[in-house]
Amino acid sequence: MIKPSKPDNEEQRLQALQRYQILDTPSERSFEDLVTIATALCGTGMGAVTLIDRDRQWFKARQAVEVSEGSRDVSFCGHAILQPDQVMVVEDASQDPRFHDNPLVVQDPHVRFYAGAPLLSLDGLPLGTLCVFDARPGQLRPEQAKALSALSRQVSLVMELRRYAHEIQQHMRDRAWYEQRLAEYNSLLEQQNADLAEQSRTDPLTGLPNRRAMSAALETAIRDVDGQPRQTAVALLDIDHFKRVNDLYGHATGDHVLAELARLLRAHFAGQGLAARYGGEEFVVLMPDTALATAELQCDFLRMAVADLPLGIPLTISIGVAAHRHGDSVEKTLARADAALYQAKHQGRNRVLRAD
Ligand code: GH3
Ligand code: MG
Ligand code: MG
Repeated sequence: MIKPSKPDNEEQRLQALQRYQILDTPSERSFEDLVTIATALCGTGMGAVTLIDRDRQWFKARQAVEVSEGSRDVSFCGHAILQPDQVMVVEDASQDPRFHDNPLVVQDPHVRFYAGAPLLSLDGLPLGTLCVFDARPGQLRPEQAKALSALSRQVSLVMELRRYAHEIQQHMRDRAWYEQRLAEYNSLLEQQNADLAEQSRTDPLTGLPNRRAMSAALETAIRDVDGQPRQTAVALLDIDHFKRVNDLYGHATGDHVLAELARLLRAHFAGQGLAARYGGEEFVVLMPDTALATAELQCDFLRMAVADLPLGIPLTISIGVAAHRHGDSVEKTLARADAALYQAKHQGRNRVLRAD
């Protein structure tokens, strides 16, 4: 018996075979069908689609063959792939020096006749064969050899299509994975944008809405849902001599005072107004549906509450309060409140003054 030698391009050949990812996969109808046609065409009892792995031949499809693989050393197909462009025919294995004592010949399945057409990869590397064989000696007529060769090209084609199908499936899976990642990334971005939008409306030190948020709130507050003008009062308040607090107690204490005042503002106007940090040590309070006199009173209560804050620091505020006038801009109303505040400061601080 002569063992089949390995082709010069064996490593390349094995790599090519690997790319098909076909070894040890379940049987598939299209390969079985081609074996059926090949055996019918050549009049043999047995046939197979064989792939030559490093040390074994593995059958992707088989007819009347019991085992799913065999040793490459005793394989006929190992010889067949050595001449990739030819159909190898053994008319009577018992008379052939390469095979006469081969276990496949002297034992089951007692092969005598063999014909194998190499299966080539797209770049011409032999991966295995489409082969037919029988326990009786036989011959292959030229047109049968031609047809077997044509069928082997169909097997190669099916292998190629199968590979494309798998690649496409893999791409789809990858794509689904990327889309999933993208969706996660997008929702993260949206969350981040929402956080940023929130941050852009909130003063970080006091947690109160900032000036920008207050301007927007003012614009909506001066009209009701039907667009009709609505009674609205606006108060601007400023801490008296706050610079001294910083100078005497330090900036951190100054910050603490601002935060405490914010807390008081929030509590004081809960449910009936919106307080915001207008800038530095100035705050603005929006009081919807509130008459000027009521607003002024509210502000005076606030002024007294500030004076009573248990801060360990004497603290007072001055307030200017204005009623929004129909037809005015909110800027105009704020400016009038600011003018009143200025007057309050001028008159000695720690007081509430209304704009005319
Ligand atoms: P007035 O009674 O005239 O309002 O006197 P004032 O000292 O309060 O006014 P002035 O405008 O001279 O000073 C305001 C001070 O507020 C100056 C600034 O350092 C302080 N300030 C503004 N923002 C902050 C802040 O976020 N933290 C602290 N600690 N201080 C601030
Ligand atoms: Mg000020
Ligand atoms: Mg001040």
